[in-house]
Amino acid sequence: MSKWESVIGLEIHAQLSTKSKIFSSSSTLYGKDPNKQASYVDLGMPGTLPVLNKSVIKKAIQFGLAINAKIANKSIFARKNYFYPDLPKNYQISQLDSPIVEGGYIEIKDSNNQNKKINITRAHLEEDAGKSIHSNENNCTYIDLNRAGTPLLEIVSEPEIANSKEAVSYMKKIHNLVTYLDICDGNMQEGSFRCDANVSVRKIGDKNLGTRTELKNINSFKFVEKAINYEIQRQIDLLEDGKNVIQETRLYDENKDSTKSMRSKEEANDYRYFPDPDLLPLNIDKELIENIKKNLPELPDQKKERFIKSYSLNAYEANVLVSEKEISDYFEEVV
Ligand code: ADP
Ligand code: MG
Repeated sequence: MSKWESVIGLEIHAQLSTKSKIFSSSSTLYGKDPNKQASYVDLGMPGTLPVLNKSVIKKAIQFGLAINAKIANKSIFARKNYFYPDLPKNYQISQLDSPIVEGGYIEIKDSNNQNKKINITRAHLEEDAGKSIHSNENNCTYIDLNRAGTPLLEIVSEPEIANSKEAVSYMKKIHNLVTYLDICDGNMQEGSFRCDANVSVRKIGDKNLGTRTELKNINSFKFVEKAINYEIQRQIDLLEDGKNVIQETRLYDENKDSTKSMRSKEEANDYRYFPDPDLLPLNIDKELIENIKKNLPELPDQKKERFIKSYSLNAYEANVLVSEKEISDYFEEVV
């Protein structure tokens, strides 16, 4: 028996499926010619002003209600300051202290097939950055800013996930939820749904969490599992050698099936967050929340129960059918 146990927390980025960007009217369509869909607002040109896209509010609230979270009646946008070539504004509009969604949880099955609650810390709205495309061939980096300003919901879990299998179940559950709610297209190849995995290990029985590393931008269930497994073993090897784990951001290389250091981990105060003076606090009244609640679509767990009852299916069969919204719709049509 290993004397180590792993602890994982996931930060999932789900692109919200809106026609236009979160703070501008440019289109969010994927795969268009580079830099044709970035407006002055997305580029943060002096004198431009962001205007919040109303439909992201509804989508964030739908998600919050679906996980039994608290919806903030006053939510604040903040500037997260950092320089990167694909972020020409030098800051990202995000939320820090008053995110739109706080708390909530989802249920997964643990390794003994028992229900396990994974608590969600928060889900906040933010804008996506552009994309840097590194070309070995031409020894240069291209910048495509079409993605800049695409709305994201960042869903942050508590460090309560025990291993890579649970991490994948959790991620699939959230993927299923956002596609049922129809707030995200869930396309992982196109990066519409991706995650950062925070991984640490500690001696079994220890109360304190170990030092974590953060594995950035993983966009497949298979790679999440492999990256986490590699990282857990790497950390255990270090600790067994009497060395320390360094808190840092690492990248998973799917060809080598290993992770490598990208940068040392920055803390919130490195970003000099402050409330964005261009955006008013977002006040959400109870009526809007009630209204959205009344009109929530049927969610996967509810559909599963209904399938079991109305079609005399067993839990396994119902699970397979609701695992993807299209499959469940198709099944009902055939019936
Ligand atoms: P940041 O935004 O700097 O990455 P947070 O403190 O908000 O930091 O944590 C982000 C994620 O990391 C959360 O999902 C949290 O559960 C997870 N996390 C924090 N500490 C640990 C740890 N020691 N081991 C594993 N996961 C952790
Ligand atoms: Mg992080």
